[in-house]
Amino acid sequence: MKFTFVTLFSNLIEFYFKDSILKKAIEKDLIKYEFYNPREYSTNKHKKVDDYLCSGGAGLLMTPQPLFDTLEDIKSKNPDSYIIFPLAAAKPFRQNDAKRLAKKKNIVFVCGRYEGIDERVIEEYADEVFSIGEYILTGGELASLVMCDAISRNVDGVLGNSESLDMESYESDLLEAPSFTKPESFQNLSVPSAFLKGNHSKIANLKFQMSICKTKYYRPDKGKNNEK
Ligand code: SAM
Repeated sequence: MKFTFVTLFSNLIEFYFKDSILKKAIEKDLIKYEFYNPREYSTNKHKKVDDYLCSGGAGLLMTPQPLFDTLEDIKSKNPDSYIIFPLAAAKPFRQNDAKRLAKKKNIVFVCGRYEGIDERVIEEYADEVFSIGEYILTGGELASLVMCDAISRNVDGVLGNSESLDMESYESDLLEAPSFTKPESFQNLSVPSAFLKGNHSKIANLKFQMSICKTKYYRPDKGKNNEK
């Protein structure tokens, strides 16, 4: 699977592929990434990519021409491109989206800067738009990385143990149960004793009950399907 980032600031993204799970996924050829800089497509003699808002008011907006030309070039080279715009005003990006998008061949993230992107670019090219939360970031690079990371975990082979995906929070209506590791006792704080006795059905039952409690505590808006 390929991730293409349309960005004025590729350095803000590239570091993330240099370590850990995404680095390994690249080494195993499971994912690839590339950058396109709209400034290189600008026909303006100063390579300008932004301008004042027609409606007046503060701030600058990314202009259509460099982005139209960048996206046309990407589409001509990759006809199966699926183009996503991170936008603060869009619907929230969720785990189900990460799983669904992990089946695409080439995802293109168009990273806005300044006050955002001229709406005509979004109208013309967006296959989908997502927000990563109800706050305003300075640009789309972080939002794209967040989505890219969440999608990559769901690409076959990227996680060593894909079973670990099934039990995670947001895979079902319940959050993942609390987890514990060694030592069994640390500063007088003990792991629940049932976890240490090896009875798998008792452990599964306890985890289920703990998931219900955790969901009620952290996310009372969820878990309704498990209420008696
Ligand atoms: N004026 C815009 C608004 O009020 O919605 C915000 C523009 S923001 C400063 C610049 C860029 O950052 C946006 O075009 C978008 O690409 C990205 N961005 C900011 N917040 C985001 C969020 N919560 N989710 C996804 N992308 C975001």
